[in-house]
Amino acid sequence: MAHVIIVGGGLTGGTLAYALAQRGLEVIIIDQIDPHLPIISDGRSFALSRSSYNIFKKLNMWPKEATPITMIHTSDGVLPRWIDYHADDVGGIPLGYVVDSALLKSKIMHQVHSAKNIKFYAPASVIRLERKSSYALIETNQGEILTAPLCIAADGKFSNLRTWAEIPVVEWAYHQTAIVCNFSHDSPHENRAFEHFLPSGPLAFVPRPGNESGLVWSIEKEKADVLLALSENEFVEEVQAHFGESLGRLKLSSKRWAYPLNVRLPKRLIDKRLALVGDAAHTFHPVAGQGLNVGLRDVATLVDVLAEAFSLGLDLGSASLLNRYQKMRQADIVSMALLMDGFVRIFSTQSRFMARVRSVGFGVVKHCSPLKRLMIRHAMGSTGRVPYLARD
Ligand SMILES: Cc1cc2nc3c(=O)[nH]c(=O)nc-3n(C[C@H](O)[C@H](O)[C@H](O)COP(=O)(O)OP(=O)(O)OC[C@H]3O[C@@H](n4cnc5c(N)ncnc54)[C@H](O)[C@@H]3O)c2cc1C
Repeated sequence: MAHVIIVGGGLTGGTLAYALAQRGLEVIIIDQIDPHLPIISDGRSFALSRSSYNIFKKLNMWPKEATPITMIHTSDGVLPRWIDYHADDVGGIPLGYVVDSALLKSKIMHQVHSAKNIKFYAPASVIRLERKSSYALIETNQGEILTAPLCIAADGKFSNLRTWAEIPVVEWAYHQTAIVCNFSHDSPHENRAFEHFLPSGPLAFVPRPGNESGLVWSIEKEKADVLLALSENEFVEEVQAHFGESLGRLKLSSKRWAYPLNVRLPKRLIDKRLALVGDAAHTFHPVAGQGLNVGLRDVATLVDVLAEAFSLGLDLGSASLLNRYQKMRQADIVSMALLMDGFVRIFSTQSRFMARVRSVGFGVVKHCSPLKRLMIRHAMGSTGRVPYLARD
């Protein structure tokens, strides 16, 4: 019997498997995607926090091609108010890093496949979860029956394991779609990221290697459909008109991808011999690029809890241990969900009253250095109890 079974070999499941294997645990990981297929980009350029950087560095997964962010320029898009966050605000270290999704997945998978104590079942879909008093049992569509004291659901936002465990989910939709693509531009990005909170929805550019930046534009679904149907030239003109000339003239350098946006928050992160991590445990609006960052903090916390229990020879799926994990994660997840939701609601409105509230808020943050620093540190994942892998 393995020590843990992880369902989902994506970014969080893969990272968790390798981190636990490093601490000596026997790990089974199951994913429905064929590992022999080439890993292709899904268009996303992940903005990663300092805590994510630390986790990947410690696990030798950090891609050297990552682009540091040294300034974030946020603007209201309507009123002439903006806040600039500088690396100098936090002692000169980058505010974050941008990594291409396919590159990151390749780095993680390389480490997973190199670990002798990880058994990778793929392509295989999980079709059944059963929990007994002393172990969890998983059945795959390939006929394997696998058991371990603990099963971990890293199977993404539509988690089957979460559904089978009947964990209630609070869910709401923004009726927004995120349009994701890359642009080259006339002016260098100089490692700057831009977040324009437009009334139609947030539009963000993050720096990529060379003279390229990645766009995430979250916009009403109907408007997104119109934008996606435009010719390349017409689309570029629309982006240019909404974003302005901060990066000079823009040129589309990739295809366009579309992601419907929902928030899903399960009421519990645990059940009998089951723990949730990553998007299975929380799906946020990508307004501030935090979903994966928070998921990686789930991973780092669970590694702390499980590695300690393993070294003491304790039951890895016991209720007390799982309760500890849940307690340690709840505040971070709930505060991030509320913050992201507040951002979207405050900024995605044409109301004059809300425009005033925004204006006051911008003024307060701009002129209050401790508050500004606290906001940066929160986004960097450096507040509260920081698990070992996420520490500097
Ligand atoms: C437009 C957009 C931009 C974003 N930008 C950022 C950003 O800048 N920064 C950031 O931190 N976050 C960002 N996010 C969030 C981030 O993409 C997610 O949080 C992250 O990808 C979740 O990873 P995961 O491994 O938990 O889930 P997933 O990537 O969904 O992986 C789930 C895995 O489980 C497998 N699986 C599912 N069901 C089964 C089954 N039954 N049997 C076997 N395998 C199964 C799947 O094949 C998959 O490999 C963004 C999200 C969006 C939509």
